[in-house]
Amino acid sequence: MAKFLLLVALGLLVGWWIAKRYRARSDAGDDKTPRGSEDMVRCALCGVHLPRSESLVTRGLYYCSAEHQRQHSPTD
Ligand SMILES: [Zn+2]
Repeated sequence: MAKFLLLVALGLLVGWWIAKRYRARSDAGDDKTPRGSEDMVRCALCGVHLPRSESLVTRGLYYCSAEHQRQHSPTD
């Protein structure tokens, strides 16, 4: 019985340690990737502004969606 309780205590300790590590890592990740200072670009078709990372680029032109990218791209 004492061994069983020891195993339970050990399991709880390991679980707590993993949860603590996981939380610390996700907090650090949030600090390293600040948002809000990103370049804004304009869709070449509809003119909507969106973050550069969310835009689609074709020949130096930015698009808000794959549909606008396809509609605006010259057929070749
Ligand atoms: Zn668009």
